[in-house]
Amino acid sequence: MGPLTAPARTRTLLPMSTSAIPPRLGLLTAARAQHPVLEVSRPRDLPLAAHPQLAAQHFAERYGPSFFLDVGTACPLHCVYCSVARGLDDKDVRMEAREHLYMRMADGESVGVRKLAFIGGEPASRTDFMHLADVAHAMGFQDLTLATKSVKLARPAFVAQLRDHHVSMVHLSLDSFDPDVLAVLLASQTAPKLLLAGLHELLAQRMEVFLFAVLTRHNLAGLGGYVRQLADLQQRYGRPLTAVVSPLKVQSRAAKHRETLVPRLTEVAQAVAAATALAQQLGVALIHKAVPPCLLPQHSDWALERYLVEVRVDLQTGQQLAAAPNPDVAKQPPCDACPANALCPGVDAAYAAWQGWAEFKPAALAAARPSTAN
Ligand code: SF4
Repeated sequence: MGPLTAPARTRTLLPMSTSAIPPRLGLLTAARAQHPVLEVSRPRDLPLAAHPQLAAQHFAERYGPSFFLDVGTACPLHCVYCSVARGLDDKDVRMEAREHLYMRMADGESVGVRKLAFIGGEPASRTDFMHLADVAHAMGFQDLTLATKSVKLARPAFVAQLRDHHVSMVHLSLDSFDPDVLAVLLASQTAPKLLLAGLHELLAQRMEVFLFAVLTRHNLAGLGGYVRQLADLQQRYGRPLTAVVSPLKVQSRAAKHRETLVPRLTEVAQAVAAATALAQQLGVALIHKAVPPCLLPQHSDWALERYLVEVRVDLQTGQQLAAAPNPDVAKQPPCDACPANALCPGVDAAYAAWQGWAEFKPAALAAARPSTAN
């Protein structure tokens, strides 16, 4: 297996230094002993790509530098593809204590990161979610992202509350516009309509929203229709829309249902290629992530990895370090010579253990587009 990350290097993330860390953060010693680094997503340094796509660049710049604030794994939905770890019986639900979340916010603030994304589980299902958003705002965070699939979004008052409590962006998990497909994926008859109504509510209230879809056997064939729906919404609401699509992680419930749920990555890449071409025709931004470039060489300028990079920030020094190797992704020895190795996110390790490596061919990539290593 080849290296998963670029060689470690250090640099200052933002104009900041340890001397800029407020004295009150001395209280956070215990938290830092547990978490000496903060994992941050930040826009890549220029040049982003040979032909940067402005919508993808915009997404990266709106989102990063930011860090995930994982509020716990509780979620009222029971999506069949959920990859969140909840123990062997899927019932081991974790709820992060407020104090822990305050400390993580302070960590981010101390090293100059001014954006955070609430993730779960379902962050909006916490009864103290608005309070947490208020605390983050009071600590100086400029952009608060809510990553959600909450049916509460169908309630106009809830969306208005998000605004009132300083949530500036919503990353809405919406895998299809077809309620029947959503009913299968969400294992719910009622949630799909509410979720679709929630998207309209967000757009009607002019919230900044990005859509996220995971690609399964149930929604892959409908990806072109998904792009057409985005184009219709753009026209109806008079604003650009961006969606990010990605393969499933074969973990937790998705692993349990893998035979009926998980398509081959080659099929995913083919569907993404066709949908990306259609999106360009229709003026829609369709970004993909976690698709190995050897399967999708023709649209590498829409790969999120070209625009966003994961790094770690040392909480003691503020120095930026390369991301730690991710045990959930893998590469194979031929990847070492692959022209896209540096930007390739790797293959979901569970997928590779299940389906093998025959699909992944660096030689095909080199022949198709030698410049993709830029
Ligand atoms: S061969 Fe494929 S999986 Fe391996 S580094 Fe290249 S793009 Fe990634």
